[in-house]
Amino acid sequence: MSFDTLGLHAEILRAVLDSGYTDPTPVQARAIPVVLSGRDVMAGAQTGTGKTAAFTLPLLHKLQPYANTSASPARHPVRALILTPTRELCDQVFESVTTYAKYLPLRATAVFGGVDMKPQTESLRRGSEIVVATPGRLLDHVQGKSIDLSQVEMLVLDEADRMLDMGFILDIRRILSLLPARRQTLLFSATFAPEIKKLSEDFMRQPEFIEVARRNAANESVEQHLHAVEPEKKRRVLAHLIRHHNMGQVIVFTRTKLMAERLARELKRDGFNCEAIHGDRTQQSRLETMAAFKEGTLRVLVATDVAARGLDISELPFVVNFEMPTNPEDYVHRIGRTGRAGASGIAISLVGPDEEKSAVLIRKLTNKAMEVTPVPGQFSTSETRERPQREYRESREPRAEREPRTPREGGRRSDIMQIETPLVEGRNREAPAALGGRVGGVGHTHFHRGPNVVRELPALLLPPRYAVQK
Ligand code: AMP
Repeated sequence: MSFDTLGLHAEILRAVLDSGYTDPTPVQARAIPVVLSGRDVMAGAQTGTGKTAAFTLPLLHKLQPYANTSASPARHPVRALILTPTRELCDQVFESVTTYAKYLPLRATAVFGGVDMKPQTESLRRGSEIVVATPGRLLDHVQGKSIDLSQVEMLVLDEADRMLDMGFILDIRRILSLLPARRQTLLFSATFAPEIKKLSEDFMRQPEFIEVARRNAANESVEQHLHAVEPEKKRRVLAHLIRHHNMGQVIVFTRTKLMAERLARELKRDGFNCEAIHGDRTQQSRLETMAAFKEGTLRVLVATDVAARGLDISELPFVVNFEMPTNPEDYVHRIGRTGRAGASGIAISLVGPDEEKSAVLIRKLTNKAMEVTPVPGQFSTSETRERPQREYRESREPRAEREPRTPREGGRRSDIMQIETPLVEGRNREAPAALGGRVGGVGHTHFHRGPNVVRELPALLLPPRYAVQK
């Protein structure tokens, strides 16, 4: 099946083609026609299945008749609202919206906490057909009267299960009460816990259920390894495995913020190029760390489940569970960071004696035997330090080892987006300066650009356009 057969507007198809996608993923093939028909949809699909385009493409198609270039805010009321649980996911969905809407004069704004509210307010006041938001910050804007939701025709609840896990249920109900009753509602969730069903009964009209193969059952492209390791040896085993598998880049999961912080510190001391992201880090620091990781300059990213939720990192070959998650569903989300959209990946779990229970639950959930295997390679517990020359050499090597990303490297056009950034040396380090310079363009598909230079960046690099919260 190709995208052409789905009846999407030509300018949307053109943008999809630019992204290099010719065939819809299963959730796209099933959801797009139903959304186009106007029905409510409840879809069981996780990050990595292509779910973002599954709701974004038909949403844009339905808004296309409203596309206009008028400067009047009245001509750009909010017509579609997309709610996401985390700031990072909000930014990623916003990126997808702007990517697929690039040939249509529709406006989009990202609204999430931890960053300055003013540019968001300005963007909303100028008018924006599509708003991608986290619930708390959206309600702040409602309270500040910078957003009017009375003309919303389409609502998307992305990763609804996680929004409920994160305690957003009251916020969501409050937001739902502000929307017109006559609207189309699309709910995407990895699981359908009773609260989700209740939410759908209260707020949806005879939704069509769409369930695509769960990654845990179907994703054969992720190799899963379990090693039994005493907690005090885990760090040394991890350092050994990074070298043994020659991991160009890896996400390492911990259960707590404290452990994420400690492990990152220790790995840094061992000579690894490593940073942690978790809920106690400032939004600015999280965005910068993610940008460095996506750009390929950061080798090891240590993350907690909440911080890493929904992150779209393409072609990441390795994920390590330094600590097993208490909730087996989180295991599925964690390993979903690798083996995405058909690529292959390896997920390694270091299971301590007190974590065997979660390993059993995970086996049950994933329906896989997953034997505990010995740590591969010659492993000596005294060998911990990463030799600096090696780290230096490897930090320059991944580009050649990786799939090429830029046209100069021979990458597909689809992986590249052209964005304009102020000319700064060492973009990430200079981010705060750059941030101030981009305030005018926050959240809009049409940026107001100064005397900037055009640079080519990997499509997944978070643009440093968000002003830090004062
Ligand atoms: P998502 O589940 O929305 O987080 O998407 C997972 C990844 O799949 C993203 O990197 C998308 O860019 C990619 N993707 C989305 N649609 C397609 C498609 N039709 N073919 C191949 N990859 C896709």
